[in-house]
Amino acid sequence: MRPASDTIFALSSGHGRAGVAVVRVSGPAVGVALDRMAGPRPPPRHAAFRKVRHPGSGEVLDEALVLWFPGPKSETGEDMAELHVHGGRAVIAGVLAALGSIEGCRLAEPGEFARRAFEKGKIDLTAAEAIADLVDAETEAQRRQALRQAGGALARLYDGWRTELIRAQALTESGIDFSEEADVSATACEGAREIVAALVPQVRQHLDDGRRGEILREGLHVAIAGPPNVGKSSLLNAFVQREAAIVSDEAGTTRDIIEVTLDLGGVPVILSDTAGIREAEGKVEREGIRRAIVRAREADLVLWLMDASEPQPAPPAGLAGSGSDLLWVLNKIDLLGEDCAHPVLERGWFRLSALTGEGLPALVETIARKAAARAGESEVPAITQARHRQQIEACEEALEAYLAGAPGDLELRADDLRRAATALGRITGRVDVEDVLGEIFSRFCIGK
Ligand code: GDP
Repeated sequence: MRPASDTIFALSSGHGRAGVAVVRVSGPAVGVALDRMAGPRPPPRHAAFRKVRHPGSGEVLDEALVLWFPGPKSETGEDMAELHVHGGRAVIAGVLAALGSIEGCRLAEPGEFARRAFEKGKIDLTAAEAIADLVDAETEAQRRQALRQAGGALARLYDGWRTELIRAQALTESGIDFSEEADVSATACEGAREIVAALVPQVRQHLDDGRRGEILREGLHVAIAGPPNVGKSSLLNAFVQREAAIVSDEAGTTRDIIEVTLDLGGVPVILSDTAGIREAEGKVEREGIRRAIVRAREADLVLWLMDASEPQPAPPAGLAGSGSDLLWVLNKIDLLGEDCAHPVLERGWFRLSALTGEGLPALVETIARKAAARAGESEVPAITQARHRQQIEACEEALEAYLAGAPGDLELRADDLRRAATALGRITGRVDVEDVLGEIFSRFCIGK
């Protein structure tokens, strides 16, 4: 990350032609840049219509709405400005080049505005991550989850727990200080133990959420698996009603994994079509099958597809991973005659025809129900990222160590509490997180 003393600018709206484009500028030279390019400076936080000029030549580049947000009452906490210019490529290029010609101004790196807001204490890390999620949100439920997080729901929860732990740590440390006075010390330690005892069930319950927040954020993974030629690609196509996968009647053609994302009741569902699973001869096909099995094992839900006209009873052992669910589906029921009496047809499997679409709505509804059950929204804020889960697990581990350790070893117990509080502080960015900042903010686009 380059120096924070630089003034940064970027196109914050989308790329390509548009009616309006928003260019944002943040840093110490914003006031000067505004005076030279779009003076006189409008009153703080009021939009004004101005001619935007090149600061060197004085040439008029565009007419724009100009906003001036003096720090610290701005999104980044620094002096900021927004120029709402016409969204043509030449206008945008001209305005960006003009800003770049001003001393101390340079193009922002991805996520640099959000990072400055974090570093100035305007937002915590969970809010910064939520802003990136909000930009990426594709379904209503994802948007609501990101918005709740951006509004501080997770930060309040973790900061609340951390405050309690710091209180417990202080009590334990006061127990060390007053170790000469047994009564005072014992009362302080008892107080700390009560705080931890109340907190541990909350932390455990938060961890034991079936990954609902993470599934909602990332999507429910559904793998279509089965022997070759049973209609896996056709089913995927029927789902999306377009030709997303190659359909062919030569066995073994889907060697790679093809994915599509559907919005089922607000939960994104990532459907993947995998290679046909059978005893393969070719090296390439064997690799495809290996990947198909890996994908199925990682999926939240596996649709095991069979050809109703030649049903095979069972998927390979261990196809569904420990956390996944398996639905048995018979395809090509349009080929079945009235008198067809194979024993598997008696079982209560899903019956459908990817060709005619029969049975598809019922399957979609079942998947949507499962998606809602796994990732439906809840009022209680859920863990949304693996990064947060890791830290909460570290916090829980430290609290378990506290409860299991000898109560009289006050220094060790205070250290357990400090580790637990630090883990929570790393989620919101209240304590040493320098090592993860680059990774978090590089996920952002330029201009955010
Ligand atoms: P995959 O290898 O499992 O992906 O199977 P494909 O989707 O490539 O389908 C294999 C063949 O079965 C193609 O000729 C499809 O047109 C055909 N097929 C797929 N679904 C149905 C179905 O529901 N009914 C009938 N009659 N044929 C189907």
